[in-house]
Amino acid sequence: MSDTIFDKILAGEIPADTVYEDDHVLAFRDINPQAPVHVLVIPKRRVERLSAYAQEHPEFVGQFFSAAARVAAHLDLDGPGYRLVVNNGQDGGQEVEYLHAHILGGRRLTWPPG
Ligand code: 5GP
Repeated sequence: MSDTIFDKILAGEIPADTVYEDDHVLAFRDINPQAPVHVLVIPKRRVERLSAYAQEHPEFVGQFFSAAARVAAHLDLDGPGYRLVVNNGQDGGQEVEYLHAHILGGRRLTWPPG
């Protein structure tokens, strides 16, 4: 697996606007926000996509989603609400091959997405 932009952010090689970090995840603001709050959450254990994570480390999938919910709470989104999105693979619109969850909030989001 070649390094992605998120590997470089995790390694501190390129800057990111970090909003939360613990032993398992790093969360930082998306460079091209689609909502007033748009944060990406990545596991520190590198994996390409959710489907691979579910196969290789199913025990960590719940931990990852719990962490994403914690980040959303940390961003004061529990009250107004938010959307958690994981794009998986080409048809899912995944551009960066490093598992990440998008937290989107700060405005009323429409459904379905395009
Ligand atoms: P995907 O389409 O893979 O689910 O989402 C990748 C996301 O990463 C996009 O929303 C894009 O704006 C964001 N992104 C791409 N490059 C960078 C970067 O260098 N820094 C940050 N903070 N976000 C990035």
